[in-house]
Amino acid sequence: MLEIDEALRLVLEQARPLAPVELPAVEALGCVLAEAIAGDIDSPPHDKSIVDGYAVTAADLASGLAELRIVEEITAGESPRYTISPGSCSRIMTGAPIPAGADAVVMVERTQLLVSDRVRLEQRDVRPAQNIMRRAASFASGQSVLEAGTLLRPIEIGLLHEVGRITVNVRRRPVASVLATGNELVSAEQVPSQGQIRNSNGPMLCGLVQQAGGEAIDLGIGRDDRDHLQRLLARGLKSDVLVVSGGVSAGVLDLVPEALESLGVQRVFHKINLKPGKPLWFGVRRGEGHGTLVFGLPGNPVSSLVCFELFVRPALACLAGTDDGGLRRATARLGSDFRQRGDRVTMFPAAIHERSGRLHATPLRYQGSGDLMSLTQANGLIHFPAGDHAYQAGDEVNVLLF
Ligand code: AMP
Ligand code: MG
Repeated sequence: MLEIDEALRLVLEQARPLAPVELPAVEALGCVLAEAIAGDIDSPPHDKSIVDGYAVTAADLASGLAELRIVEEITAGESPRYTISPGSCSRIMTGAPIPAGADAVVMVERTQLLVSDRVRLEQRDVRPAQNIMRRAASFASGQSVLEAGTLLRPIEIGLLHEVGRITVNVRRRPVASVLATGNELVSAEQVPSQGQIRNSNGPMLCGLVQQAGGEAIDLGIGRDDRDHLQRLLARGLKSDVLVVSGGVSAGVLDLVPEALESLGVQRVFHKINLKPGKPLWFGVRRGEGHGTLVFGLPGNPVSSLVCFELFVRPALACLAGTDDGGLRRATARLGSDFRQRGDRVTMFPAAIHERSGRLHATPLRYQGSGDLMSLTQANGLIHFPAGDHAYQAGDEVNVLLF
């Protein structure tokens, strides 16, 4: 059976970065830059004070404590009018431009105002350049400040604004349609009758898509019926990614693979060596202009989550132009004993916490396939290789952190 790494390679092979689009910078949070950004001005635009205090000439004070005449007060946003000459200084606020003739700022906490226009400095050894940020110290006009491929976090959004970029070219956010399938499913506003359950996977998968930087379209619930499934799947194939939950196992009403193939989706693989998640189905539909990556996730909520984290999230990251799928690999100490059985690799949901500089991973005791509540404690997966083995608390294990 197909191993996880090989399956992931087959998925990523199909996931090429989407074409760039121009977006308002304020809407580009989480997107990846498709252009290099240069500064259009020097930053800071002038030598500026980084404290509230007095702008002075350092050499003027070489002889020790000094009393100086205050020629003006300069606040941020104002321009100095006077040049500092021996025996004088300007009162200056944080961010304000340094006046001509001054080369240092003495912070206000180290001074004493004598009368309204005289100040005594209580700092010896005033060094030239102290408390001054030089013009262009951060970056100079024309200098590159962000490289193409950079993930835009709030810091980078701020920097874009500093260089006056109100629109920016970024990789388009992948659009992923989500379809939950199953005759037993009803929507959340309904009270399930005998044999029914509420659709929790659809909203969970939409949330995972959004969290992964994609735009989610919720296609609702598909019945286990060829025509109905085909209609909804056809709508989903207009997206970059189609995520289907349920209907990919070996049951008589597991109609999703067949319905997808009848719509021209080419199967890349079906079934992998993974517990939970063995029935995972993956295919592609080549379209005019764009293709669609199609994931058929097993309906069991734990399997859906695990398969999303291992395969859909990295695919979305590739489409969005970043190869960082958000999962962090680490090693941890096992928090409790665990018995691994069988010939399938297990990715087990776990609560992973740091204690005394070490990660500790405790497998969650979930009560079978539908136990989403226990999963609320999960923030990662423990990787147990195939084969029978009794792990003991304290053993070192490999983990993936969400
Ligand atoms: P399936 O993969 O369709 O055989 O479904 C496997 C299990 O997952 C069944 O117990 C389903 O009831 C459950 N399941 C399927 N889809 C969902 C869903 N959207 N929300 C919650 N549970 C589901
Ligand atoms: Mg089903």
